[in-house]
Amino acid sequence: MHLTDEQLNEYLDEATNERAQIEAHLSSCDECAARLSTLQNVFAELDSLPEVALTRNLAAPFTPRPSLPAQLPKFLTLTVTLQAAVALTAIIIAAPFIAQLIPVLELSSLSSVFIQLQTQWASWLDTLSQFQMPTLPTIPFELSSIYLMSAVVGVFMLWLVGNGLLLRNQIK
Ligand SMILES: [Zn+2]
Repeated sequence: MHLTDEQLNEYLDEATNERAQIEAHLSSCDECAARLSTLQNVFAELDSLPEVALTRNLAAPFTPRPSLPAQLPKFLTLTVTLQAAVALTAIIIAAPFIAQLIPVLELSSLSSVFIQLQTQWASWLDTLSQFQMPTLPTIPFELSSIYLMSAVVGVFMLWLVGNGLLLRNQIK
């Protein structure tokens, strides 16, 4: 029985507890002794190889790149600021009207709030059932309502334009 490659490797690594048996076999078997010296030469050659630096960075293609510029162009920042300003103005204009629509609830206790909501809901349903389209000769909207409507439409238009500009910039 000749020595296995594993036994020879372990012998070279000095990681064997069959050292005496292996040495006994090597001294009597030229074939295994030759295999051992071949293995020794291979390892010696591997050790003598110089460390070669990579000529190009292999990790580079996998490094995430920022797809968006860090800073938005000036005109876009202006658009966003304008949007915010107009939206804020619209909210300030609309707030009193919305406040008028929402009746003031007495927040004395939770149960009373619930009862108030219930009665309010009932009265809303009542109002809805009695709602009639305004007849043509009378002015369908109050002036304040027209302001409110135009403010909402204006904000919506600005919103669309601003977002369109933002999207176009991202696609580029
Ligand atoms: Zn042998």
